[in-house]
Amino acid sequence: MQQISRNYIGGQWRDSTGNRTRQVTEAATGAVIAEVRLASVADAQAAVEAARQAAEGWAATPPQQRADYIAAIGTGIKERAEAIAGDIAREVGMPIKLANRIQLGLPIMAWEAYARHAVAFAWQEEVGNSLVQRVPAGVVVAITPWNYPLHQISAKVAAALAAGCTVVLKPADMAPLSAVALAEIIDAAGLPAGVFNLVVGSGSEIGDTLVCHPEVDVVSFTGSTAIGSHIAALAARSVKKVSLELGGKSAAIILDGADLAQATKATLASCFLNSGQTCTAITRLLVPSKHYATVAALAAEMAASTVVGNPLDAATRMGPLVSAQQRDSVVNYIKTGLAEGAELLAGGPDAPEGLEAGFYVRPTVLGRVDPGSTLGQEEIFGPVLVIIAYEDEDQAVAIANGVPYGLAGAVWADSDERALAVAQRMRAGQIDVNGAPFNLQAPFGGFGQSGVGRENGRYGMEEFVELRSIQMPRRAPA
Ligand code: NAP
Ligand code: MG
Repeated sequence: MQQISRNYIGGQWRDSTGNRTRQVTEAATGAVIAEVRLASVADAQAAVEAARQAAEGWAATPPQQRADYIAAIGTGIKERAEAIAGDIAREVGMPIKLANRIQLGLPIMAWEAYARHAVAFAWQEEVGNSLVQRVPAGVVVAITPWNYPLHQISAKVAAALAAGCTVVLKPADMAPLSAVALAEIIDAAGLPAGVFNLVVGSGSEIGDTLVCHPEVDVVSFTGSTAIGSHIAALAARSVKKVSLELGGKSAAIILDGADLAQATKATLASCFLNSGQTCTAITRLLVPSKHYATVAALAAEMAASTVVGNPLDAATRMGPLVSAQQRDSVVNYIKTGLAEGAELLAGGPDAPEGLEAGFYVRPTVLGRVDPGSTLGQEEIFGPVLVIIAYEDEDQAVAIANGVPYGLAGAVWADSDERALAVAQRMRAGQIDVNGAPFNLQAPFGGFGQSGVGRENGRYGMEEFVELRSIQMPRRAPA
């Protein structure tokens, strides 16, 4: 069992001064795989102070030099990728092959990309008689969740370092192993002391200290809407920049004439990815009434044939959920859906056969869901797809937009042009037309209660800079 008893502060591994421990469990079995001595408030304060001390020097470091460090960190992650993917598969429950491809593949790409963005970024431009400069914002606190732990960390930390900011990272205490590995990699890359700091602690214990600390300039958070809203309110007291990546209830619209089998298959894949613990998961499938029966039958059959099992088995397509609490919450949602009159097309509230030990939930499809019902409105964060029938395109768009969230979406049609026309009516941060792939360089974030700000690509760096306009005496026209 791994013991995590130190934080990485000011370029050193320092013993945690907290007096509480937390156990990290294996999602597939419930077995304890690591024990964390949680960071104290004093540890959190020390981390912020270390980041503050390093801020001026890091901001003044030439972008190319920052880029070299960032590239070295990417290489370091690549070298340890398999072991880290194994840790994440155990903590979070994602099948190992997918964990390798997504949980590690995305971070490696992100660090490589931010090495380029650090140099290519529009640090300064001229507007009339002004020099408009992008200036590192200072000290960043990054608070991240457990579902794609290293990806969510990298989206913030690599972008902040590229932008010339120093960082204090507080990862989710349920899945901290990849964060510890990253700190070791950063240490080996020889980053100047204090540029990156890690505190492994509980959000409810040290979160407020980090968010309210006067030496913190930016708070970048990914997680639940409830905690995001709490953090934004706290940060407002000292007028900090805040970016929030929150939940979603994303819809796919199948238009008449689309390939029903292809659209249904891709929607289920998105919904069940990481056992539904994906903020951009497509969890509502909007289908023309006349095709409802066909799509319901397709979805039922595909969901029932999804191989659920231990994430370390090569045959597994869907693993368990991260914790007993998440499993219970999802099971309760399924029960609520049935009580609200939804039609059970696949899965259900009982544990999958033979998998009673870990935190498993059956891949579930609920049909004839009322868009205004609990299951039509709330983020479930589990493998539960709801199918909603609609009469015409206007109604489909209204249903898709009729939730408090606006993170992602998808449109399926017989032509890309027709799908694009509907995509442009959707109020969401990223929309896929006819199954187009995810693009890590495009801005990522949400409308409405899905958040504030954008991550990824050069857009991600914008969250970590301040704009400064310097007016120069007008030059005579040439
Ligand atoms: P969460 O409670 O929002 O946790 C996210 C991060 O915030 C964790 O690092 C957490 O630390 C920290 N945190 C908790 N309380 C805090 C506070 N008062 N101040 C500062 N930071 C604090 O999310 P969760 O408990 O992991 O999951 C709950 C629900 O959130 C899920 O069911 C899902 O709906 C949603 N969620 C969404 C996303 C997404 O990507 N949009 C990701 C994860 C979860 P600790 O882990 O130490 O508590
Ligand atoms: Mg929590």
